[in-house]
Amino acid sequence: MPELPEVETVRRGLADRFVGRRIVNVWVGRERSVRRTSREELTARLSGATPVAAQRRGKYLLCPLDTGDVLMIHLRMSGQVLIDAVDTTRPLHTHVVLDIGNREELRFVDPRTFGEVVAYDPREAQRVVPDVVALGLDPLVDELTIADVRSMLRSTRRGMKALLLDQHLIAGIGNIYGDEILHRAGISPLRPANRVTGAKVARLRDAVVSVLADAVAMGGSSLGDAQYVDVSGEGGSFQENHRVYGRAGERCITCGRGVVTSAVVAGRTTSWCRVCQR
Ligand SMILES: [Zn+2]
Repeated sequence: MPELPEVETVRRGLADRFVGRRIVNVWVGRERSVRRTSREELTARLSGATPVAAQRRGKYLLCPLDTGDVLMIHLRMSGQVLIDAVDTTRPLHTHVVLDIGNREELRFVDPRTFGEVVAYDPREAQRVVPDVVALGLDPLVDELTIADVRSMLRSTRRGMKALLLDQHLIAGIGNIYGDEILHRAGISPLRPANRVTGAKVARLRDAVVSVLADAVAMGGSSLGDAQYVDVSGEGGSFQENHRVYGRAGERCITCGRGVVTSAVVAGRTTSWCRVCQR
């Protein structure tokens, strides 16, 4: 499932190739992809509108339009945003198409159909996109300070993996980057959050920002079973740098002594090294 680095890579593609281009036509195939409002409302709000920016909060893509509305796209499990020539074959599972002129179109492709495309008046954000309004700090858009992290840690006895997955606290981290961040910080996913103190607080804050920034620099992670690609259809390469995710049973490449453990933590298959992470 795409997390912050993958969504940020898509955002950069939208900034390059979508912003400033008038949407001349809207096509909606499967209505489930636009279920937050309706086919008619999406078409009415997007037709003739021009995106003026490509922004991101957590895993949400947000494009303000020149009409005052906002286009939100969430990839969820398997969504892709592709910009292709109109005369190429649309991939299977293309559910929304925006004709952006110059013989190109934006295609929202989503085999599992959990993803969403919605256009809304930002004054109605609380009603239409309450999940966006409720997001916590974005570690790359906002400044994530050590004081912010310390107050999150003090607020709960939940385990560290659960804390990192909570989008209301820090937005954008999922299973892959949660595991990689905790490994870089040297913290067990099972450790109660309020028992992470002292120098570990700053180390955690630095791991959150640096793991995500490193992954963005490599275009995110593309896994064998997932469909994540950027707007040009290219995969990322940060999966080559994963140190624990997907490495259960292997010798830890950080310490060379531990073996990467795997267990279900906070409802997700979690990998960590018991030697490096305490
Ligand atoms: Zn280790």
